[in-house]
Amino acid sequence: MRSVVLLGAPGSGKGTLATILKNSWNVPHISTGDMFREAVRANSPMGLKAFEYMKAGLLVPDDITIGVVDERFSKSDVKKGFILDGFPRTIKQAEALDEILTKNNIKLNSVILLDIDEKLIIKRITGRRTCPKCGAIYHIENVPPRKQNICDKCSSDLIQRKDDTEEVVKERLNAYNKQTSPLVDFYRNKKILVRIDASKTPDKMIEQVEALSL
Ligand code: ADP
Ligand code: ZN
Repeated sequence: MRSVVLLGAPGSGKGTLATILKNSWNVPHISTGDMFREAVRANSPMGLKAFEYMKAGLLVPDDITIGVVDERFSKSDVKKGFILDGFPRTIKQAEALDEILTKNNIKLNSVILLDIDEKLIIKRITGRRTCPKCGAIYHIENVPPRKQNICDKCSSDLIQRKDDTEEVVKERLNAYNKQTSPLVDFYRNKKILVRIDASKTPDKMIEQVEALSL
């Protein structure tokens, strides 16, 4: 069973990697960012609350985030494995994840650290475009769609995430460095941390993951 956490700065390629891996591993892709964006679109009270933080580049409070993940793990599809993308992001969330997994009798196999130089991140994120319908991720230069601004997979118009502006990205990086990077040591101590070079293309990232034989 493959049960992994993808850990990495915003723009390191967690979402892109997860989208490819979930198909080849046939396990659910659990992205707290995607779940929050869905809640925002649905205008739910939780979505409105989360959006206050997301638009400023700040982390959504732990109690809300942990609640969302706890609920997601009550579904039985996670028994066959999972890819957690963007969770945990704080030590408190990592401890809560341990509890959620123990309670559901599931083991976390590996935490994949997507290692990337901060200088590359701003360029990657400001050029990112996503499909609001199917979640496909593009980059205007690195991974352009076949037809400008149209999703290859479902023909929807692509959008730029509201938090993908340079100003907000700087805040997100700040949150990563302060609140999330301590998780590297947290999982290194548990001896389940593996590292890939995330400055490479999506294909090369997949090759590195396959070479790990998880
Ligand atoms: P990225 O990794 O590129 O920043 P995500 O889609 O994972 O993008 O997250 C977008 C935003 O959603 C974050 O900036 C944050 O506000 C919120 N968010 C997502 N996951 C979490 C989490 N685990 N804890 C707190 N906030 C989160
Ligand atoms: Zn699409």
